[in-house]
Amino acid sequence: MSKIGFIGLGIMGKPMLRNLRKGGHELVAYNIHPAGLDAVVGEGVERGTSCKDVASRTDVVITMLPDGPEVDQAVFGPDGVLEGAHPGLVLVDMSSISPLVSQKVAAACSEQGVNFLDAPVSGGEPKAIDGTLAIMVGGEQAVFDKVAPLLRLMGSSVVLTGGVGAGNVTKLANQIIVACNIAAMSEALVLADRCGVDSEVVFNAIKGGLAGSTVLNAKAPMVIARNFKPGFRIRLHQKDLRNALLTAESKKVALPLTSLVQQMLIALMNRGSGDLDHSAIVTFIEEMAPKPTARSTFAQAFDGARTTAVCMHQKLEQ
Ligand code: NAD
Repeated sequence: MSKIGFIGLGIMGKPMLRNLRKGGHELVAYNIHPAGLDAVVGEGVERGTSCKDVASRTDVVITMLPDGPEVDQAVFGPDGVLEGAHPGLVLVDMSSISPLVSQKVAAACSEQGVNFLDAPVSGGEPKAIDGTLAIMVGGEQAVFDKVAPLLRLMGSSVVLTGGVGAGNVTKLANQIIVACNIAAMSEALVLADRCGVDSEVVFNAIKGGLAGSTVLNAKAPMVIARNFKPGFRIRLHQKDLRNALLTAESKKVALPLTSLVQQMLIALMNRGSGDLDHSAIVTFIEEMAPKPTARSTFAQAFDGARTTAVCMHQKLEQ
């Protein structure tokens, strides 16, 4: 198998690269910050000196970068992928970016005879480590068929969802569902808590019913344990919802729930919580509720109202 290039060695990129290596592939890697690169070079991966250098030494280049501007810089910038690329090279961008940017990059690649796929992932760091990511791909079938065996080393589900950009449209759909789920879960758990009902008891009572979900199972325990270590950072989810809203606007689609949750994420970033896990959306909802110390007052009022109702009922029966 030909040599693989890998650009972007953050939370996700590093374990994904390691799974390619476990699959027996030779790799050349590059990261703009040397720390990420040093870690994998020590494991037998060749050091690339730039995105251009990586592209000039490989036949398939994978990028795993934060957002569209970084992909733009890595592909079009000075010392970028297109400066080193040869016709026939396959560029697989696995970052979660706007599908509109994917289509722009694909068009520029095609002018140089470079094949492009957008292939964002879902599953987070644990699944990146296990090689069980869900990978949603956009592009041509023939190009997909060429690199699908590589993608299967990183993911347990690898699906071609349509032409270029379809992978990122699918990812945006995923991110909308996850964000709105976390926001709804947060409102539910805060209400239960302020009514004096234990959040863990509520979680265990409802997780097997219709409200149960993968999101609930993954995020409710984090909220209950007050563990907001990322995981998936608030600032990255805010970026995804921004991309969803911009894409929706370009198609004249209204996304009222997404824009509401987007506002919550912006507010959380403004108060310095951008690097917390997205389950910290609950802290935004908590701030709009009475403090927990007021719970007993609320519970007493609740009990008081119930006692009054019972007395009235008994009087009526007499
Ligand atoms: P990260 O910030 O940890 O890693 C990105 C890496 O890219 C960093 O090491 C950074 O130094 C490097 N980089 C930035 N610009 C560069 C450039 N021009 N050239 C070379 N390297 C550059 O991000 P991450 O968590 O690994 O996420 C990567 C992508 O995957 C994002 O689009 C994110 O939305 C998506 N994603 C993340 C998760 C998750 O749980 N973290 C889950 C699914 C999808």
